[in-house]
Amino acid sequence: MGRIRSQEPKQKSQVPYWHSDRVPKGTSFKGWIAGPLVGINGHNIGVTKPCYAAFTNDEMKCPWCEAFGVVWHGYQPIYNMSGDAVVVGVKRDSKERLEAMDTHTPVKVSRGTEYHSAVQVVAHAWTTSKPDNRPDRKEAADISMWLFQLWKLPDLLAWHQEQDRIEAEAAKPRPKPVMVTEEEAMERTGKTLCKDMKGMLADRMKTWQVADTPPVVEPSTNGHRKRKPR
Ligand SMILES: [Zn+2]
Repeated sequence: MGRIRSQEPKQKSQVPYWHSDRVPKGTSFKGWIAGPLVGINGHNIGVTKPCYAAFTNDEMKCPWCEAFGVVWHGYQPIYNMSGDAVVVGVKRDSKERLEAMDTHTPVKVSRGTEYHSAVQVVAHAWTTSKPDNRPDRKEAADISMWLFQLWKLPDLLAWHQEQDRIEAEAAKPRPKPVMVTEEEAMERTGKTLCKDMKGMLADRMKTWQVADTPPVVEPSTNGHRKRKPR
């Protein structure tokens, strides 16, 4: 029997770890906005799934549109006081308020005591400090890949990645037209004009030689011909 080869450590998942926080009714916690709200038009089929048609601008047919109504659902990433990265689900009435909030805004997350009470995330100045110094928390969090893991819709993920690829392709630098500074442009124009003037003068000279008349000079106001400053 051959011996076991030492293995390289498996690469860490590319998807940052988040967990869904259900926020039991009548409870609250404090934290910070971790990144922008992601709102989708989706279907509640026991769990929330994005509507294929809405997500893809009707490029893909949605298997749920006929049987289920479309509801807006928001996913708000938050760092809680304990340092956990959580995502809370919010309803339509929170959309504008959360969209106006900057990353790292201190907030209070709560849910009322009623059975149907929705999770509320409101700005709450419980601290003046930032979440923490972890480098991956300095920038606004992007929960896109986590959402695709949550939804488990590989065909929708493939569509999304194709859009990314097309966008990246379109953003590639193209060969730029040759740009010149204003001075260079003037110089070019000047050179062209000079050439034309020279041609015109040469023609004139021929005429003068034939007619033997001196060139007409602009009259000077002080009797002297003005000299061009050098
Ligand atoms: Zn649908």
